[in-house]
Amino acid sequence: MFLKQLDTLGFKSFAERIRVDFVPGVTAVVGPNGSGKSNITDAIRWVLGEQSAKSLRGSKMEDIIFQGSDSRKPLNMAEVTLTLDNTDHKLPVDYHEVSVTRRVYRSGESEFLLNKQQCRLKDITDLFIDSGLGREAFSIISQGKVEEILSSKSDDRRIIFEEAAGVLKYKNRKKQAEYK
Ligand code: ATP
Ligand code: MG
Repeated sequence: MFLKQLDTLGFKSFAERIRVDFVPGVTAVVGPNGSGKSNITDAIRWVLGEQSAKSLRGSKMEDIIFQGSDSRKPLNMAEVTLTLDNTDHKLPVDYHEVSVTRRVYRSGESEFLLNKQQCRLKDITDLFIDSGLGREAFSIISQGKVEEILSSKSDDRRIIFEEAAGVLKYKNRKKQAEYK
């Protein structure tokens, strides 16, 4: 499984439709301070289901919608699509390619799509859990994260190992079964 493409429209500083192609090998994103490098990883975390505006460096979810600039009006919607190559079927679905889309409107409405079909946040979370790319996963290491892991409580650190070992899925299912 690997990231192929990221498409954004109206997400944070990306007012226009932007496409990032991740070619095999290492992709480095360079640019001056404030040019939107971190907004790219924010877009990836958001489309994978991040629900905390704070961890996306805002105070409310609306903050991720392009808020206008000197030359452009604010937009009413943000949309991000992440396309993954799934020829190794790491993601437990039949598709060779998986695309995840998330949209949010200023009115507060939001939607998720999996290969262009509407779905729930839970479907996305379930699909990516234990794949190493989930919202809570450590495939995205942000500034300060390494230090946070090293200084975390042993219970919190245990979650990291459980995700890496692939048992988080079963623990979550058990918890859900107990609620029913
Ligand atoms: P650094 O090198 O300092 O880490 P960076 O390239 O990672 O910078 P980002 O943090 O990705 O930069 O981008 C910050 C920019 O995104 C700021 O200029 C900010 O005004 C802009 N921005 C954030 N949210 C929005 C929004 N909703 N609408 C328009 N612009 C936004
Ligand atoms: Mg940054």
